[in-house]
Amino acid sequence: MIESFLIRHVDGRTLAAIDGLPPGGQKTATPFIIPVFLPMSGCPHRCTFCNQTAITGIRSRTPERSLVEEALKTFLPLKRHPSRPVQIAFYGGNFLGLPAPAVHELLEAAAVPITRGDVASIRFSTRPDTISSHTLATVGDFPVETIELGVQSLNDRVLELTRRGHDAARTVQAARMVKAAGYRLGLQMMTGLPGDTPAGTLQTAEGIMALAPDFVRIYPTLVLKNSPLAGQFRHGAFTPATMEATIELVSRLFLKFTAAGIRVIRMGLQADDALSSAGTILAGPYHPALGEQVYSRIFYHLAEAAIALHPNGTGAPVIEVHPRHLSRMIGTGRANITRLKARFQIETLSVQANPAMAPHHLEVDNAPSPIASRLR
Ligand code: SF4
Repeated sequence: MIESFLIRHVDGRTLAAIDGLPPGGQKTATPFIIPVFLPMSGCPHRCTFCNQTAITGIRSRTPERSLVEEALKTFLPLKRHPSRPVQIAFYGGNFLGLPAPAVHELLEAAAVPITRGDVASIRFSTRPDTISSHTLATVGDFPVETIELGVQSLNDRVLELTRRGHDAARTVQAARMVKAAGYRLGLQMMTGLPGDTPAGTLQTAEGIMALAPDFVRIYPTLVLKNSPLAGQFRHGAFTPATMEATIELVSRLFLKFTAAGIRVIRMGLQADDALSSAGTILAGPYHPALGEQVYSRIFYHLAEAAIALHPNGTGAPVIEVHPRHLSRMIGTGRANITRLKARFQIETLSVQANPAMAPHHLEVDNAPSPIASRLR
């Protein structure tokens, strides 16, 4: 992973930072989302890993104008920061797979609060094989800003095993068309799919990077109740990835995308009551705060890379991080400290908060003697 870090070393002090991440973190204003869930609406069939009803707790429903109006009534009063742009988001289904009159009705309903000035724009997620010059022309009359495509994998065998119903070339074509039409492009990918490997997932990430999306989301494969994958899991035909392997792989994906200037806006499914209720997830690497686990692992690797530059220093390295990232550096149950001590066979290692440090940077004082030279 060291290739993903920027490391400078002077007189025993080492500054390590994540390549591509500005010192203060990514600052683009995230929109305030008004979600309109359309669980599996418009889907031509069920992909093996999918059960949107289990994820959202919402049963399949008719895609009609009233859903937009209800979502606005529920969520708009919750907006706290006036400067944050509001976006209506159609999630959980295959938006452009809906019958054309339904697409039109939903977009028309979403355009009303935009005309009033309450909402800034619209986004939706859809399957790559719904993107055509015809469907893009259909939405072209509405203030759609962002189109998210469910890529999941760019390996044809994996797409076949998960019954996606199209190949990788179709995804590449769709992504290019979305960008060429001037929309912001979001791509969603999965780890641990049937038939996939970590190397294959990293190849998918390379393919996604070549498409230069504006952002990505990364979802580990879970075995959800009543999904086709649940049957395969019960019969021993599918084994989900472990949590450890998933954290490591998602960390690498995060670093790859970040170094390429592509924002990772989500890692892991959003924790909610439906997902957390007993029996929803039958197996798989679920953590309600997977992103935090990944950040913590990245801090481990940053510290590891920094200490490795001067492994025979004081024998008692001191790591400094911004106070905001102290817990990420230490890790759950001090896991990162324990691991670093074992890795470098050292007795003493301390972590200190330093408000003068840039977030997402860390500094290791591991000099063999007291040194004055600082790296800021
Ligand atoms: S993964 Fe997407 S396209 Fe496949 S069944 Fe679920 S919502 Fe539909």
